[in-house]
Amino acid sequence: MRSRIPEEIIQEIRDRTDIVEVISSYVSLKHSGANHQGLCPFHSEKTPSFNVNSPRQIFHCFGCGVGGNVFSFLMQIEGLSFPEAVRQLGEKVGVEVPEEDVSPAEEKRRQEFERLVRINEVAADFYHQLLIESDEGGPARRYLRQRGYDAETVKQFRLGFAPDRWEALAGHLEKKGFDLKLVREKTGLLREGKEGRGDYDLFRKRLLFPISDIRGQVVAFGGRVLDDSLPKYLNSPESPIYNKSRLLFGLDQAREAMRRDGCGIIVEGYFDQMALYRAGLANAVATCGTALTGEHGRLLKRYTDRVLLLFDQDKAGRAATLRAMEVLLPEGLSVAVVTLAAGEDPDSFLAAHGPEEMKQRLEAAVPVLDYFIDLTLEQHGESVEGKARAVEQILEKFRLLKSDIERDLYLKALAERTGLEESVLRGKAAAPRREAAQSRPTVQPARKPVTENGAPDFGDKAQRNLLRLLLLKEDKYRNEVRAGDLESFFPTELYHQTATYILSAEGPEGELKENLIDHEQLSGEQVELLSSLILLNEEEAELLGETAPQLFADCCRAVEKKRLAEELAEINRQEREAAARGEDITHFQMKRIEINKKLKRS
Ligand SMILES: [Zn+2]
Repeated sequence: MRSRIPEEIIQEIRDRTDIVEVISSYVSLKHSGANHQGLCPFHSEKTPSFNVNSPRQIFHCFGCGVGGNVFSFLMQIEGLSFPEAVRQLGEKVGVEVPEEDVSPAEEKRRQEFERLVRINEVAADFYHQLLIESDEGGPARRYLRQRGYDAETVKQFRLGFAPDRWEALAGHLEKKGFDLKLVREKTGLLREGKEGRGDYDLFRKRLLFPISDIRGQVVAFGGRVLDDSLPKYLNSPESPIYNKSRLLFGLDQAREAMRRDGCGIIVEGYFDQMALYRAGLANAVATCGTALTGEHGRLLKRYTDRVLLLFDQDKAGRAATLRAMEVLLPEGLSVAVVTLAAGEDPDSFLAAHGPEEMKQRLEAAVPVLDYFIDLTLEQHGESVEGKARAVEQILEKFRLLKSDIERDLYLKALAERTGLEESVLRGKAAAPRREAAQSRPTVQPARKPVTENGAPDFGDKAQRNLLRLLLLKEDKYRNEVRAGDLESFFPTELYHQTATYILSAEGPEGELKENLIDHEQLSGEQVELLSSLILLNEEEAELLGETAPQLFADCCRAVEKKRLAEELAEINRQEREAAARGEDITHFQMKRIEINKKLKRS
């Protein structure tokens, strides 16, 4: 069993943390009344609807519905679990979080993870020292200088050099006391020696790029030769700590800039990423010798909604661009293509034309679908047959778009461009959709409508308002609701459960617990609901103070109305039965008139 982190520890971390300060390192916030406001990092917007409330230590976005406390924020933005968020924040504010009781298997996995990272870190230091200091590193230093990279960049990227020796790293790690068999089997940095010889180094005579995970820990290396020998690039094999379809080179450095600039740049090579970084374009990442995947897309989506593809201007680069379109559009990313002159790559372009011209190229990026349309129409020529085939291929790709509006606009544009009837294209585009099953839920699921008896006057709004009254400081409304029937106040399950939680969060004096957002007791949906209601209450505190009695009366009337409607239904049922038995039904009629009168009054 996993034991929970003690409540006092969580409390202490929360007390020592300021949510405004934590969120400020991701979002630029401005004072606005009782709140701080900024552009939401979880959805794309031009006017701020993202609010952080310091007195209550919560945040909420009125645009997309995300919200919660400081832990919720870290969970969402860094993709952490609740215990991970507590631990990360605890480390920052100096509160030690005791180890949870984890299963032996889990503990073993965690220890192995740390050991493997440690090996890669030690190797990174070793290779880095060789590059900056050793005689063996001379040619590599010269090579970098020729390509325009100074000592500063070498240090910043912790570049390394693997010398032309068989056992340089093996010897170093052995001296440091590492188990070489583990190094060989789990990191791939060593290979098994044949015929009784010792294990030997994977990387020899190569310039090395350490590949870091999102926390900046080295988990693998990419190695490039200094001459024309092959293979030009050699990477660490995948390992328990390195999965190349889930990792992007430079993301640990680039994510802040991505958020700030509202856009990320994807390049293919380590040198491209480094060149852009040095040119002041810090929002670039590179794939580690692999095609982009949907997982890469989801990873990027945490930091930005828009990506620019800046690939080599050759056949392979074009193919990579189209593949990227296939995997990134379904993730809801807006994707655009940057073109350079034929044969060029970002590194060579920057060397020849400088950062300013590169920025112009980035600004002129074309939406990837437009790029695809141009390419496809051009390839198939002007003949009727060719055009028809091109249009079929293009329509097929429209299904990658997540937004209906966007799809509609593209249909119109394509009709204009090809001279085909829009209705014909529309009919074709509506054919069976293969991609439909892949679409993922949006951030905010549609709120469940009231189901039971469908009393429309007791929908979402009344229940939300009632919850807001339950959240007031005074316990008046909590007592009133407690005295009644909770089910009839809150027919919708989400609200019912949340009300039950609020009522249980009272102290002995009838006061409400200060930190209501509790990830271990509430669902994600409840966290978002509560934080939005608390924020609304804060913002409209004065107004709510004045209107609360009226609001409560309205809600109670809605409850009463619902009760009467149910009573009426019951009477009608009994009346039908009595009539069927041939009994006197006058008193049912009397009752019905009475209830109807009450219903009209309410
Ligand atoms: Zn939002």
